[in-house]
Amino acid sequence: MVIEKRVSKALVLENNTAEDVSRAMIEGGLQKDPFYIFDMDKAYQRVQYFKNMMPRIKIFYAVKSNDSDFMLKLAASLGLGFDCASPGEIHKVLKLKVSPLSIVFAMPTKSPEWMLYARQCGIKHTTFDNLCELNKIKQFWPDAKLLLRIRVHSDSVYDLGKKFGCDFETEAIDLLEEAAALNITVVGVAFHVGSGCSSPDSYVLGLQQVKQLFEHEDKAGRKMKIVDIGGGFLSDKTDRIDKVSKLVNNAIEELFPDPEVQVIAEPGRYLCDNSFTLYCNINTVRPVQVGDSSINMLYLNDGVFGCLRYNEPWHTVKRFRVHSEGEQLKPTVLWGPTCHPIDRVLDNLVIMLPACTIYDWLVFPSRGAYSMTMASRFSTLPEPHIRNVISQELFNILKDSKVLGLDDFLEQNIATPLPPTLPSIIVHSKILQTNYTLAV
Ligand code: PLP
Repeated sequence: MVIEKRVSKALVLENNTAEDVSRAMIEGGLQKDPFYIFDMDKAYQRVQYFKNMMPRIKIFYAVKSNDSDFMLKLAASLGLGFDCASPGEIHKVLKLKVSPLSIVFAMPTKSPEWMLYARQCGIKHTTFDNLCELNKIKQFWPDAKLLLRIRVHSDSVYDLGKKFGCDFETEAIDLLEEAAALNITVVGVAFHVGSGCSSPDSYVLGLQQVKQLFEHEDKAGRKMKIVDIGGGFLSDKTDRIDKVSKLVNNAIEELFPDPEVQVIAEPGRYLCDNSFTLYCNINTVRPVQVGDSSINMLYLNDGVFGCLRYNEPWHTVKRFRVHSEGEQLKPTVLWGPTCHPIDRVLDNLVIMLPACTIYDWLVFPSRGAYSMTMASRFSTLPEPHIRNVISQELFNILKDSKVLGLDDFLEQNIATPLPPTLPSIIVHSKILQTNYTLAV
């Protein structure tokens, strides 16, 4: 038996919902392994909402947040651009016949090999934030079109400014001048306010700084044309994006009224997070006494070394089986399937869940972003399969796209089990003699 990496077909839903599919799979007893349901309609709605709220902005989807087949196919068939951060990501996107001009290699520090790879693939745009990178670009990718990445701090869950972005006050102008002296073209400025940003004003601050750099280049007789406002858009509540978009739209209108200036964004989390739900099974239930309280320890079949690595403040979990009236909630700790004690899901929280058995499933909503792409190889655990589901309506919209050919879809029963992830059984006719064998 071959371990299939991920299911690459999608189920077209005629009269069912994504929830119906998970219910059929779980209640039919068809699943044992953890699995995802990818509700493509939800991701589509996010793309449309983003476009409607910020019509001037072109979306370059951040592949790192979720590079699953159908997420990429959906993005490509909707004509989005892509933010790629490695040759592997570039390869995946180009395989979908996306133009290299629709890819920004948004990684400010690249090896010479990465630069040569991108250049050979026909990619033109990349970011930089330091002199060492500029000198490498001069040598290995002199015809690149650069975006200077500046640092913009914000209230965010992940502050990317610690790692990337030059200082606006003390470094940005020097780097622009250095690039000009090296005869390298800088076509724009990029920033990223940090992933999971809860201070929308930070985008405005970034845009104001970009404007000053545009003015500097104008005065020097050089013209920049691209403003890249990065990602960071929070996905937990919709009103957050409403607030950001109002501020961003006003700032763009005021600072960059010239329609020739292209404004792009690289959202990841916002587009992919809420459309992926992870379903995990329980291997073992172990009640323990801690002081006066009895705590239920549940050992799951996925954990922090798999798709439950990060536990941002908005993450939740519930039992799949409906909570019956009068059923008490119990203090519960969730452990992943590996031997490591840091493999504890939802950080160090003791959460309240109804009692569970080994026949129960837990549901982790909004686990699309930075989950499967961050799963590790630890203990050789398999990746959860993804069950891609799409409504008939959306399927009709997408079916003519060059990316999503009809062949990619498989009409199937909603209760079709996913292939098992256990490796094949090996029985050797001759056994190697080792020095140590166990007593039987
Ligand atoms: N662009 C760049 C350069 C990034 O580093 C990231 C995330 O690390 C993103 C876009 C996507 O950010 P988010 O998922 O927060 O929208």
